[in-house]
Amino acid sequence: MKKWFAVIGDPISHSKSPAMHNAWYKEMNVDATYIPIHVEPANLHQAVTSLKLLGASGWNVTIPHKEAILPLLDELDEQAQKMGAVNTVVKTAAGKYKGYNTDGAGFVRSLEDMIGPAHKDKLVLLIGAGGAARGIAFALLAEGYQHITIANRTLAKAEAIVEQLGCGQAISLQEAENNLQKFAIFIQTTPAGMTSGTLDLPFSLDKLPQGAIAADIVYNPLMTPFLQAAESKGATIVNGLGMFVHQGAIAYNYWLGHYPNTSSTIAELTAQLK
Ligand code: NAP
Repeated sequence: MKKWFAVIGDPISHSKSPAMHNAWYKEMNVDATYIPIHVEPANLHQAVTSLKLLGASGWNVTIPHKEAILPLLDELDEQAQKMGAVNTVVKTAAGKYKGYNTDGAGFVRSLEDMIGPAHKDKLVLLIGAGGAARGIAFALLAEGYQHITIANRTLAKAEAIVEQLGCGQAISLQEAENNLQKFAIFIQTTPAGMTSGTLDLPFSLDKLPQGAIAADIVYNPLMTPFLQAAESKGATIVNGLGMFVHQGAIAYNYWLGHYPNTSSTIAELTAQLK
């Protein structure tokens, strides 16, 4: 039987996931389709009940449902439970719907695509302590990065993640700015620099150390003010597009058992966003 997948969110019309997944099905000769479904928060329960009833093979979950969907699923992957957020739902062999989170792992793959796996002992500064930062912090730890410091405007949110991680440190944005020299890998996870937003950088990168690696998870625009500032200081930069493509590719792999071609997708989307 033809498999079908979806992405649910509010808004959803801007999502690049349907085009990306449908292109992979075509390329890999997979008999499947992937559709966007607009689900407002008040309708989430009914939408999930309907997706299960109609036998969806799986679906992605985007803003604002990543946390609210947890109690509506039959099973949860351990990492997704710790992260408190789900972005991928998989129909198991037993017909149950299990939630996973591929955002953080997608980020780590994207980072290591660019810099390789040999930097796990370096000191990481994670800027922001929202849903994406939480997922990235858990994924970094799972992949062997052991020195994680989280800087956030609301310190209590950074402290809560550190407590849950069982390691690392929480600091203010001012402390981060004053101590940039201590870190080697900088990961910007606030919405600062998004095309639709007006946020300034969380802090100045004037004192960025030599040889820094700077990643931003915002990918529209590809070249954010954070990446521009970091590049002007000689840093190796990693934009947010790889994270988006790899989170989708890891979901695809959960659903279909093989990894799609991410490099051509990244090249195509880069050309579209430039
Ligand atoms: P979120 O849960 O709302 O968290 C936002 C974070 O940004 C919080 O730490 C917040 O600090 C901080 N922040 C917001 N406004 C700020 C300001 N004016 N100054 C300093 N800090 C500020 O959002 P999220 O889900 O983590 O998403 C964050 C960004 O990542 C979004 O732009 C999203 O599009 C992007 N993203 C990209 C991918 C990808 O695949 N590349 C995946 C997921 C998300 P407080 O705690 O103090 O409020």
